[in-house]
Amino acid sequence: MIGVLAIQGDVSEHVDAAKRALEKMNENKEVVLVRRPADLEKVTHLVIPGGESTTISRILERVGLRDSIIRRAREGSIAIMGTCAGSILMAKKVVDDSRVKTLELMDMEIQRNAFGRQRESFEMPVYIEGIGDFPAVFIRAPIIKSCHGDCRVLSRIRDGILMAKQERFLALVFHPELTNDTRIYEMFLKM
Ligand code: GLN
Repeated sequence: MIGVLAIQGDVSEHVDAAKRALEKMNENKEVVLVRRPADLEKVTHLVIPGGESTTISRILERVGLRDSIIRRAREGSIAIMGTCAGSILMAKKVVDDSRVKTLELMDMEIQRNAFGRQRESFEMPVYIEGIGDFPAVFIRAPIIKSCHGDCRVLSRIRDGILMAKQERFLALVFHPELTNDTRIYEMFLKM
């Protein structure tokens, strides 16, 4: 089963996007909401949606999901994709912000709200390694400042990194669920 973390943020958009991708891949898998540690046991893939990373991290810890996700990730029994706020949760370090207690899964540094107020939300085509041009939607997006260790850059612009991969983990600062393009989802579901 494919899980979507259903704590806060654009959960239903991710459920729909996952279903679209599965259909396109002719895969007969179910998409389920993950709210408690027990929900996590059933899934091989987990999506962490965009939303508010401070809120998501606080509730993750309160319901005991932070520890269960970290345990599954260390066991190597789950693939995880974090988008926007979700990408913040994937990082080992958040620049100048101690309010988000992340899952510390990827060797990267990320900065919240990196595009400034006048560009709160916008769409821009970006080049992604292994995919090509992709219509990326940014909403109060963070930016990945640096990747080190086993973390690999999949997309970058002048200001920094937009998408990265490490083992079974993907982080992207934009919102693939808000386009009809399922290629990023397909890449993730094959992991
Ligand atoms: N600005 C949000 C944060 O820092 C992320 C925005 C989003 O997920 N669309 O958590």
